Amino acid sequence: MNAGVLHLLGQQVNDDRGLFIADLFGPTFQGEGPSLGRQALFIRFSHCNLSCGQGPGARWACDTAYTWDFKTYDPQDLKIRRRVSVDELITWVKSQAVRLVVITGGEPLVQGPALEHLASRLHSEGYEVEVETNGTLIPSEDLVAAVTAFNVSPKLAAAGGQEVRRIVPAALHGFVDSGKARFKFVVSELAEVKEITGLVERFRMGEVWVMPEGTTADTVRTGLRAIADEALARGFNLSPRLHVELWGDERGR
Ligand code: SF4
Repeated sequence: MNAGVLHLLGQQVNDDRGLFIADLFGPTFQGEGPSLGRQALFIRFSHCNLSCGQGPGARWACDTAYTWDFKTYDPQDLKIRRRVSVDELITWVKSQAVRLVVITGGEPLVQGPALEHLASRLHSEGYEVEVETNGTLIPSEDLVAAVTAFNVSPKLAAAGGQEVRRIVPAALHGFVDSGKARFKFVVSELAEVKEITGLVERFRMGEVWVMPEGTTADTVRTGLRAIADEALARGFNLSPRLHVELWGDERGR
């Protein structure tokens, strides 16, 4: 997504008709990373500024392509993209007895001002707010203040596409400097651990999780065994994909 489209989208989501949302679901369990196993509500934003799986060299496909691939999916289909106001989202969250809200995507920071508004409202209501991001857009001060943690998942060469789009130094420095970032890398083959180590050292990433790619329990388990020793040796944490173990690639779980 280029800067012009991002700007236009920013204008659209600032006109009080609400955010572009793909899924609202939960209570469920956070299936990945530092909050693994915690009960959470999920708000999945539509739109993404990357297109993992579609560029040259891609070795895995985005499992939420319906949030952004509008050549394949119809953006008028309300099951993949509808406007929901911040008030409606807050009402839905407050109707549940869960204190952790995970905002995911797509790429939530594409809808920056509206995301800040939502995160600030949730924060002021006393909720823990995690934002899952590909780490290519610089978080604003207001967003940093509102979130409990960023789960930053930079995309490696196996995601396909140009490095200049996947790895944005100013944005990664912004997340590191926020003091609220935990980094999580999807690993599709063992050799990628070297690529991850290079990024961790270059950007001085603190807490790091590695997680196997896969949308079936067998694939994820095989991947976990393949990367466990290397993760230990490099000082990385290891994450399964609990939702895949429980429900496969069923949407909204
Ligand atoms: S950044 Fe995430 S949502 Fe966007 S295309 Fe890549 S995997 Fe999919």
